[in-house]
Amino acid sequence: MKLISDLNQNLLVDRSLSAVWHPCTQMKHHESLPLIAITRGKGPWLYDEQENKLLDCISSWWTNLFGHSNPRINQAINAQLEKIEHVMLAGFTHRPVVELSEKLSALTGGNLGHVFYASDGASAVEIALKMSHHYWQLHHQPEKKKFVCLENGYHGETLGALAVTDVTIFREAYGSLLQDVYTVSSPDSRKALDGENADDVARRAAKELEQLFENEHHQIAAIIIEPLVQCAGQMAMHSAQYLKLVRTLCDRYDIHLIADEIAVGCGRSGKFFACEHADIWPDFLTLSKGISGGYLPLSLSMTTEKIYRAFYGDQTKQGFLHSHSYTGNPLACAAALACLEIFETDQVLENNMNRSRDLANAFAWAKADSRIEHWRAQGMILAFDVKNSKIKSASTFPREMFSASLKEGMLIRPIGNTIYVMPPYILSTEDTMQMGDSVQRAFDQVAA
Ligand SMILES: *Cc1c(COP(=O)(O)O)cnc(C)c1O
Repeated sequence: MKLISDLNQNLLVDRSLSAVWHPCTQMKHHESLPLIAITRGKGPWLYDEQENKLLDCISSWWTNLFGHSNPRINQAINAQLEKIEHVMLAGFTHRPVVELSEKLSALTGGNLGHVFYASDGASAVEIALKMSHHYWQLHHQPEKKKFVCLENGYHGETLGALAVTDVTIFREAYGSLLQDVYTVSSPDSRKALDGENADDVARRAAKELEQLFENEHHQIAAIIIEPLVQCAGQMAMHSAQYLKLVRTLCDRYDIHLIADEIAVGCGRSGKFFACEHADIWPDFLTLSKGISGGYLPLSLSMTTEKIYRAFYGDQTKQGFLHSHSYTGNPLACAAALACLEIFETDQVLENNMNRSRDLANAFAWAKADSRIEHWRAQGMILAFDVKNSKIKSASTFPREMFSASLKEGMLIRPIGNTIYVMPPYILSTEDTMQMGDSVQRAFDQVAA
């Protein structure tokens, strides 16, 4: 029996390697790195054909909130499937998209009352950038068309989103395709000098931004930031003070603030929206990843009454003429509504406070480990950096750590020398402690 299923597993992996071009992967690395075929998931666990289980410590690329095969989300999708699976959103509407938009608007206290939908995160970013650009034309300031982004920021990999992304490995080959942007210093609190705290770093970064705005505001449309955590940028965290300062500067210089909450939204930061930590609202807010609980592709860009009004008029071309085939897909919206209901009925944000304490306890070993620096946490994200002197090679460390973790039954995917966990919001204290212990064992095998 075992042999047969081993064979099946290997066969499927081989077929995948010849027919599927996997994302964000040098395919040749799979000559030595195993590709894992998953047959089912339950709660935080993923299972392969032999029923080996893996704890999904990174929520399937930061998307899964309430576990795999969650009965309540399954039920909501099934119920919607019996009604209407999809209908175009131009000229038509449906209950799931209306209810989801109303609920999201209410979560912003009505400040961001208009929701525009797409399917993936990068497209939501493109929508915010295009709306900002178009707004300034409608506002008779067409010269305001440049974007500001942050050092080490990540906003997706389509050409518009990639232009405001500052992760070299993703940009390098495509530089000549990308529009020019201003890139300002990240308020990354790891940059604190002796005697400085995270607020000081935030103020320093904001000062630099103020200088740019002062000189160039007449040609700047918007600044795009990832509030509190630059997730793809090695989980770099910053003080909420930075968000307050940026909001003030944007108001003073008439520049839009785009908060990309694709990774940090939906409760990941400890509040539903990360901007709530600073008590501010942006002009555009993007969500994706967790919004459908990790079930179906869904993304959106929310904006204000003021921006919505600028596009409202008799002429077609004054409208926002952007669309995707699956805009506002009813199944995806039904999954999102089920998630918002779980947030309410299960008091998820309140209970996650205990879960983040569990996370900190499970990884207390790392805080005390002399091979590690910059231990940090925000809500349901915990990260730390392995000192360069303690790894054999920066380029192979992520794969070595990934493989060692697999043997311990953990799905971990370090970014450079940063090890992080970002689990679904359903882990028991026991699972969390097991995660901390297993990651420590894997780390001990890999670190010098
Ligand atoms: C993942 C991510 C995106 C892109 O989302 P995709 O669905 O992968 O296109 C954009 N911004 C941030 C902050 C992200 O983490």
